[in-house]
Amino acid sequence: MFKLPSPIQQVELGILSEKGVELWVKRDDLIHPEVSGNKWRKLKFSFEKSKREQLSPIISFGGAFSNHLAALAAAGKLFNFPTIGLVRGEESSQNNPTLKAAKEKGMELRFVSRSQYREKDILIKELKKEFRNALIIPEGGADVLGVLGCTEILKEVNEHFDVICAACGTGTTLAGLALSASDDQNVLGFTAMKQGLQLVDRVDELMDRTIKAGFDRIHTHPYELATAYHFDGFAKVNDELVEFMRNFTKLNGFYLDPVYTAKMFFGLFDMIERDMFPPGTKILVIHSGGLQGLAGMLHRGINIYPEVK
Ligand SMILES: *Cc1c(COP(=O)(O)O)cnc(C)c1O
Repeated sequence: MFKLPSPIQQVELGILSEKGVELWVKRDDLIHPEVSGNKWRKLKFSFEKSKREQLSPIISFGGAFSNHLAALAAAGKLFNFPTIGLVRGEESSQNNPTLKAAKEKGMELRFVSRSQYREKDILIKELKKEFRNALIIPEGGADVLGVLGCTEILKEVNEHFDVICAACGTGTTLAGLALSASDDQNVLGFTAMKQGLQLVDRVDELMDRTIKAGFDRIHTHPYELATAYHFDGFAKVNDELVEFMRNFTKLNGFYLDPVYTAKMFFGLFDMIERDMFPPGTKILVIHSGGLQGLAGMLHRGINIYPEVK
């Protein structure tokens, strides 16, 4: 059902041979057409837990175009688990492609105002009262089980890479990579939102909690963050990014998502151009999926890949 281990392939672009840098991509976007990328990595152990402990429904949170809710809804349908998504914002967003698909997969959607959404503790308390046997997953799958799922990514890679790159939202994927990389590897996260350095505390906390939960690893130089490639904020795109995405896809034959992986690849190429990696460096980028977001962009009038519907 899932394409695991996900394949890795080399990325070709002129600048790479000029700079003597090798770039490979781990195609987690191919894991499943709907439960894509790092979202399945982060959900896998929660689904195992809810099956083992018979916890139901599975409830989580997200924005109106959330890759996480889309993946949860699709996985719920695949494994026959009832799911509920608490969506930040107005009920009018229920007709966007992300939420329409989630609903079709059987997810119950509940819309909460932005102010309610910020008071998650209160929401969770109410949910626990209403559903005594639910499994509640934080937004973005940002918990220890999510981190543990992401520690499996590098286990699938036999070759040596000097640098491992991931796009960051909650930082859960980065935490899993940082905990599972070897000491001679650098882990580099690209933040998808402004004020990216705030992520350090969250990633460190996720790593701490995962070690406390019994994960056998204490890493000395865990990760670095590139925070300059957010393109003015989360889910914002401009012409330069769109052109970069189209060129990248023409050359490499696979798609990027506008919210995370495109900004990461853009930033990485910028860093390579600026000679931030010595010749001979081998870089592995995790393609974390998120391609369902392209339909959301189209819904908002931004047609990045005219051939993708
Ligand atoms: C959710 C998502 C991320 C962010 O992952 P975190 O573990 O929350 O940092 C990165 N890339 C894509 C495509 C995503 O959908």
